[in-house]
Amino acid sequence: MADSHGFLTYRERELPPNRPVPVRIADYREIRERRTDGALLKRQASRCMDCGVPFCMAGCPLGNIIPEFNDYARQGLSGLGAERLLATNNFPEFTGRICPAPCESSCVLGINQPPVTIKAIERALADDIVERGMTPQIPGRLSDRSVCVVGSGPAGLAAAQQLTRAGHTVVVYERDDRLGGLLRYGIPDFKLEKHIIDARLDQMRAEGTRFRTGVEIGVDLSWTEVRERFDAVIVATGALAPRDLDIPGRHLDGVHQAMEFLTGSNREVAGAPPQGQVRADGKHVVVLGGGDTGSDCIGVSHRQGAASVTNVAIGIRPPDERAPHEPWPIDPRLFETQPSHEEGGERVFLTSTVEFVDRGDGSVGAIRVADTQILPNGQRIPTPGTERDLPADLVLLSLGFTGTDANMSGLDLPVGRGSLIARSSDYSTDLPGVFVAGDAGRGASLVVWAIAEGRAVAHEVDAYISGSSSLPSPTLAT
Ligand code: FAD
Repeated sequence: MADSHGFLTYRERELPPNRPVPVRIADYREIRERRTDGALLKRQASRCMDCGVPFCMAGCPLGNIIPEFNDYARQGLSGLGAERLLATNNFPEFTGRICPAPCESSCVLGINQPPVTIKAIERALADDIVERGMTPQIPGRLSDRSVCVVGSGPAGLAAAQQLTRAGHTVVVYERDDRLGGLLRYGIPDFKLEKHIIDARLDQMRAEGTRFRTGVEIGVDLSWTEVRERFDAVIVATGALAPRDLDIPGRHLDGVHQAMEFLTGSNREVAGAPPQGQVRADGKHVVVLGGGDTGSDCIGVSHRQGAASVTNVAIGIRPPDERAPHEPWPIDPRLFETQPSHEEGGERVFLTSTVEFVDRGDGSVGAIRVADTQILPNGQRIPTPGTERDLPADLVLLSLGFTGTDANMSGLDLPVGRGSLIARSSDYSTDLPGVFVAGDAGRGASLVVWAIAEGRAVAHEVDAYISGSSSLPSPTLAT
């Protein structure tokens, strides 16, 4: 039973502190202080009203049983809280760190008080799991069925863990040299330190999941071969084809896709062999795009010692400056000030890019921008007469992703580079035994959705190869 008066006693939403800016930008360690104050955690967990209809659970793609783990946290029973978390989420140590917490937007307390700090509670419980060590759940019985998972991001890993625990032989193929997908080489360590991924991978290996890195399906091993070798194939290749900006000067040196920059930095921090490193040291950096990728570019630029960092976004205005008739931003998360924004730099809203300006030597020296004008049909165009130049030695395009960049040749599905892979609501494709999960089918999304889809596709694959399945299925493919 929840504390029925907790939300009246503790009205303040208190978050565990982040490390001070000057300290944290000197390294790549996680922004949050390592330890959560137990008393603070209990106070915040006490604010959960244990609503009769827990909207928070509906807000979570995984259906996390939030009121129950809040109550265990309130009572200091972190072991039981962790059990509740793990019943619905394979990797709470990832979501507790980087999920934008749609559950908190659905928290009923949020109607007239700031919502319960569900994500911080999840993180504290998950940290306990990591610290105590993750006990492998070795299947009691092995089937004679095998599954190939292509891609080791959160969707592939969640599917692999579920199916391994169901007794099937699961092999995960990853084209990169290390496992984890965007968790590894996309998301910077200051949001998610990589030892967290390694601890989970150790557990998965001990449970029996097999991993093969440096193998690109469609190149090193054909899709036909994997279809012949395995009873089912899960395509979890992500949506890593970046959206581009086709304006004059795009060809100039110094204009890069965000992922070239972030992957290079993550590889450097990990001590992995470099891959065409793009760096920000001493440069005037302009980041185009206001989402997670953009804010990660800002954080890395600060840590690399950029001379200045400007974040330009075409259609976002802080809420207090927004005129009532303006329909944007569509996603209220975009208002959010991420920790990277607190670290410095300037944010420029409602600004369109017109041209990358040549310094005179084939490299970018400035970016020409103009105020964004919204036409009645919703089209956004630069306003004539408002052009101005922002100094830029390095421009990072973080404009979203259009679809998979995987080599799909040899897989007879209607998918081209940069598009999503068509699938039915049960994750199946037109090819028998081939399923699609995560960003590859959904489009660039969130880690929590990738894990939810990984769990759900595991249910469908288990049913396909075994005739029925008792694995949970938290969500349909959309
Ligand atoms: P991915 O994580 O993209 O993994 C796909 C994997 O498949 C990759 O490792 C790739 O190398 C591999 N692969 C592709 N083709 C092949 C092939 N042919 N053979 C073998 N392997 C292949 N979400 C959040 O919830 N919170 C955040 O803070 C957040 N920050 C983000 C920051 C950045 C910079 C980016 C780009 C995304 C962020 N996201 C965030 C989104 C989140 O990372 C993704 O939604 C999630 O990782 C998708 O998981 P996935 O398993 O579908 O694919």
